[in-house]
Amino acid sequence: RPRAELEQVESVCPYCGVGCALTYNVDRERGAISFAEGRDQPGSQGRLCVKGRYGWDYAASPQRLTVPLIRREKSYPKGALSADVRGEGNGKRRKDDRPGKDRGRKPGGLVDYDEVLPHFREATWDEALDLVARRLREIHTAGGPGAIAGFGSAKCSNEEAYLFQKLIRTGFGTNNVDHCTRLCHASSVAALFEGVGSGAVSTTYGDVANADVVIITGSNPTANHPVASSFFKQARRRGTKIIYIDPRASTVAEHADIFVQLKPGTDVAFYNGVMHEIVRLGLIDREFIANRTSNYDELARTLADYPPERAAQITGVDADTIREVARTWGEAGAAVVYWGMGISQHTTGTDNARCLIALCTITGNVGRPGTGLHPLRGQNNVQGASDAGLIPMFYPDYQGVDADATRERFERAWGTALDPKRGLTVTEIVKSVLEPGGVRGMYMLGENPFLSDPNTTKVRKALSALEFLVVQDIFLTETAEFADVILPASSYLEKDGTYTNTDRRVQRGRKVLDPPGQARADWVIVQDIARRIGLDWRYESPSEVFDEMVALMPSYANLRWDNLGPSGKLYPNADPEHSDGTVVMFDERFNTDDGLAHLVPAEWLPPKELPDAEYPLVLNTGRLLEHWHTGSMTRRSYALDAISPVAEVYLHPKDAAERGLAHGQRVRVRSRRGEIELLVRISHREQLGNCFIPFHFREAAANLLTIDEIDPYGKIPEFKFCAVQVEAL
Ligand code: SF4
Repeated sequence: RPRAELEQVESVCPYCGVGCALTYNVDRERGAISFAEGRDQPGSQGRLCVKGRYGWDYAASPQRLTVPLIRREKSYPKGALSADVRGEGNGKRRKDDRPGKDRGRKPGGLVDYDEVLPHFREATWDEALDLVARRLREIHTAGGPGAIAGFGSAKCSNEEAYLFQKLIRTGFGTNNVDHCTRLCHASSVAALFEGVGSGAVSTTYGDVANADVVIITGSNPTANHPVASSFFKQARRRGTKIIYIDPRASTVAEHADIFVQLKPGTDVAFYNGVMHEIVRLGLIDREFIANRTSNYDELARTLADYPPERAAQITGVDADTIREVARTWGEAGAAVVYWGMGISQHTTGTDNARCLIALCTITGNVGRPGTGLHPLRGQNNVQGASDAGLIPMFYPDYQGVDADATRERFERAWGTALDPKRGLTVTEIVKSVLEPGGVRGMYMLGENPFLSDPNTTKVRKALSALEFLVVQDIFLTETAEFADVILPASSYLEKDGTYTNTDRRVQRGRKVLDPPGQARADWVIVQDIARRIGLDWRYESPSEVFDEMVALMPSYANLRWDNLGPSGKLYPNADPEHSDGTVVMFDERFNTDDGLAHLVPAEWLPPKELPDAEYPLVLNTGRLLEHWHTGSMTRRSYALDAISPVAEVYLHPKDAAERGLAHGQRVRVRSRRGEIELLVRISHREQLGNCFIPFHFREAAANLLTIDEIDPYGKIPEFKFCAVQVEAL
């Protein structure tokens, strides 16, 4: 149909934290989307990557859950049907699995509906919701508040994240509520809070246009934040120097003025070496340090032990390159750093981010255009879900649950007593389930920890050990196989809500289609459960929830449902009617109690599991351009799955040759925790002795291999480093 006959509905891309504005062109006669196009907005300027442009058809998949399901009694042991994740059939696509051939029941590698569904029976909403409320209440009564936990989702809207954490806190009296930020940037947020008093970015990615120098580190933005990456490349064409620091030679390396391929897990040593040289050359900003920071002397004592020669030994980067980075950064008039999960997903993730904060602040590179700190957020609403309080140590807007005055304010607002203790994180909840007196009942909204969390074997044990698990999702995920009750939810296309991107931009997503079958909006389901456990909730719409949130969140002050406009607004924002909001934070003071940036020195520590004779390669896990996290959406998208249909291990040519492996050959990858089978991709982007596996593929689940050691501050797992062996089959 010509565009004029289609209805245009404005929304936000559901994938990465860039949150591109897009318009869906909807054919109402067919009840379907015809195509998506980018829409002008300061953060995306009409651009979309392949996921935004083509990755929305999963919502119309015949595999959508459309009716509540209850596990049949005397069914198979929970998780037994996930056997293929252990190894059998790994990576083998069934003949009829290709997209377009049989897109109904069995897309490659995903849960086999025919095998799993017979173990559940269809139920009415009333029956399913009554059962959920009754079982969670029983477990709460028997085991106390600590027996209940909830995982919310960074895919849901701000309003849904807010209601979910409110339900767990007020309905079950516990702060055991978290989401995938724990697997993403929790360590960055811990360091930012400690250092500058705010977990959000200090400037936008568009502000790179004002920078003389940019460091992009631990990130592959071309694959993971493609539209932000286009801003970086555009800035370089206008004269901004790019320093790219990463163990992998991702495509950004081809656009970099300086590319530093350091050994994985050596970030602290590298940045301490750079700062040592900056201090030695006198390139620090003494006035900024004196007036706007604390603890510089202690930092300087630590840096004294990291001359470039020592940093070179640890990092594998030659000392002259470390000196060149130091001089280039130190001499810049304005310099900004953007980082990804190569920084955060380590047992030293918080220390890594502390170094970046120190690098910016000792050179006065915060609080002016073209300067600052920006952890590139992963999921499209991980910033908003964190802002809305979907984390165990904070109420909405990062207000501490253990501060008496704050807690009393929330008790007054929510009309009930609240737990004064910090709750358990995602990683701690999994551990707690396996301990006596730990978590016994869980409410899982839109998360798929069976594939996303480290050390799948342990996660399997934990999910199997739960007394009761309710999963609310749009598909039968690997985690839903362990559920007692499955509630059919709605995709972002089927509801209204606000989403906050990596830049702090709060945007409205509008309902495009009706949910399929009996599926309901997530906020409606959360409210249904809240009412059944005795909470007097009477929200009529997401806008009402947004108003309540804003009243409790000083950072969101002045924002209203109806003043966000077609492009959304950045927060903080003194005058949303006339202003897009604040691009550069901390121009006069930091958000810490004393207004100063707190410098925290870090000593380099090696990763927890080093390669040895039996497991000689370092495994790095991550994402591909065409897929998203555990693949439940993108692997059901025709175009995306067709471009990238199989799991591969990326190997350096010499590592492949040493093992006699050829491109496309089937191999086994083993770690101390498990093994998977997949195909070899020979890649000049890998370092010798390192390999890379994306974690999107159930049939070759990378997290069977990963280690569940965590960072002591951010509690984030070490997804970026464990020891493996790759061998021919
Ligand atoms: Fe979506 Fe991110 Fe791509 Fe933008 S860059 S279209 S938000 S996946």
